[in-house]
Amino acid sequence: MKDARIIPISLPTPFAVGDVNIYLVRGEALTLVDAGPNTKEAAAVLKKELADQGLSLNDIDQVVLTHHHADHAGLLDEFPAGVKIIGHPFNEPYISQNPDFIEKQKSFFTYLFQRFGVPGDMKPPGLTVKASYRFSCNRTLTETVSEGAQIDGLEGWRVLETPGHATSHIVLYHEELGSMLGGDLLLKPSSSNPLLEVPQKGGKRPTPLLDYLESLGRLQELPLNIIYPGHGEEITTVNKLVAKRLEKQRNRAEEVYRILSEKTHSPYQICQKLFPAVYEKELFLTMSETIGQLDDLESQGRIGAETANGIDYYYAK
Ligand SMILES: [Zn+2]
Repeated sequence: MKDARIIPISLPTPFAVGDVNIYLVRGEALTLVDAGPNTKEAAAVLKKELADQGLSLNDIDQVVLTHHHADHAGLLDEFPAGVKIIGHPFNEPYISQNPDFIEKQKSFFTYLFQRFGVPGDMKPPGLTVKASYRFSCNRTLTETVSEGAQIDGLEGWRVLETPGHATSHIVLYHEELGSMLGGDLLLKPSSSNPLLEVPQKGGKRPTPLLDYLESLGRLQELPLNIIYPGHGEEITTVNKLVAKRLEKQRNRAEEVYRILSEKTHSPYQICQKLFPAVYEKELFLTMSETIGQLDDLESQGRIGAETANGIDYYYAK
């Protein structure tokens, strides 16, 4: 059942995903879950929707970010300096556009894509990094949260860390109501893309699909009546949708295994076979997806990798 204290606000985005949903939660504090993209159009719609509730941006006490992506965080730039901005610590370098971090991203992905066998004449990963900040913001978290945290003014809601789509991803879970403010953890119109990121804790690169599968596993364990998602309509048949997403992923992993059973391939060569129509245009997205499947098969011990001439080649065991 929908909760009258949760008011969805749909904002236009310049991205292929279409509109983003942010949520006004009326509790002891006035909270917005996510802000929207940094565009004039989104700002105008947000102000109008708030005005319809008798509110302005100045009335919002706090914004809780489900994750750092520009379509969710960018519009923070419109908010007055006093607003509280709350999220997982991994949001920080993205929403503040930390120059050292951006340089690290560029060099990390350039190196990584070489290892994956992506030819030098493809779109440089640095450009993709730059583009990802285009509709983002220049703000800083005023408060960080992690697993189990409760947020002042949002009584009954608890933070669950749900990485995968982004390392910074959290959801808000209301146990009593069986409700979740879910960000991009589970969406009806499309599957959430587990995206490659720079490691923030140091060490090895994150394994986004493995993290995502674990996060979906957590969803299956919770008694949920409704998820208020970041895109598309509310989800009331959570387990059914999770099962559908898991099946699609398993099928894709099997496809990768079949390709590798024939002969060894670099990740880039697999990517070309999995996504022949879109890999050039959507290189970062399709490579993230490909690496996800390789991480999954490798974690099951079904494939291995060897390096030749600086490129990783995967083989079926
Ligand atoms: Zn996202």
